[in-house]
Amino acid sequence: MGTIAISGCATGIGAATRASLEADGHEVIGIDLKDAEVIADLSTPDGRQAAALAVQGRSDGRLDRVVLCAGVGGHIGNNALVASLNYFGVVDLLDALLPALKQGADPSVVVICSNSAQLSLEFADSSLARAMLDHDEAAARRLADDEFAGQAVYMISKNAVGRAVRRRTLEWGDAGVRLNAVAPGPVETPLLQAGLETPGDGDAIRSFKVPVGRFGRPDEIARVIRFLLAPESGFVHGAVWYVDGGADANVRPDRF
Ligand code: NAD
Repeated sequence: MGTIAISGCATGIGAATRASLEADGHEVIGIDLKDAEVIADLSTPDGRQAAALAVQGRSDGRLDRVVLCAGVGGHIGNNALVASLNYFGVVDLLDALLPALKQGADPSVVVICSNSAQLSLEFADSSLARAMLDHDEAAARRLADDEFAGQAVYMISKNAVGRAVRRRTLEWGDAGVRLNAVAPGPVETPLLQAGLETPGDGDAIRSFKVPVGRFGRPDEIARVIRFLLAPESGFVHGAVWYVDGGADANVRPDRF
């Protein structure tokens, strides 16, 4: 049985993933603002550094799996926070935990992206996407607050996270650590519920076409994450898997 760090484990997809992995007998080191072994605010550089140190301490510097779920929706009214948590809160923790993962058995990592990462491709070359990929958090926070709507910041943060995963494929492959992303469509969690209750955003979510005709459940995402973490998926690396009831295929059937 392995040692697994999970960010955003208190609710939603992270909590479902935690339950599934604990049922398999793994030891989970949760990282969250509440209800976790490591209490940390991943939206700040200090919080990320403290989280990484605490996880390294609890795991004796040896991690077998990592799942990064912590994130907030574009509806929260704090665009700088969306940029910091959803992008820098992922890549900084990823890179800080790589040394411990190199010591693990069959190490594998899953990062939660979103089907919205590809919904507005004009954002992919935006100033905000560039600031994220250049790892300039101060510029990203300023741009997010001054020049973009909340949902745009969310989409850009998820697009950049997917690219950050793919850009690490060679280095992480050389290090012996598999790294993949799961891109969920709308999933019934507190994050989605809060979006549904936000004027404007709620109507956009309700009118978004999901070909299977319903929202997903957290356990459906957790099962895919569980497979990507397991040796059975040993040849899957650098992938972004859409688990979205067909939403991405419906939006861009000819690009994949
Ligand atoms: P959720 O709100 O249930 O879970 C998010 C978790 O992140 C919570 O446990 C929360 O406490 C934690 N968190 C929030 N701010 C934090 C901070 N500053 N530091 C540390 N932890 C913090 O939402 P969810 O839907 O389960 O979201 C999980 C991931 O899935 C997110 O990255 C989200 O963007 C992504 N996602 C969700 C959906 C969806 O429809 N629910 C769709 C696509 C992608």
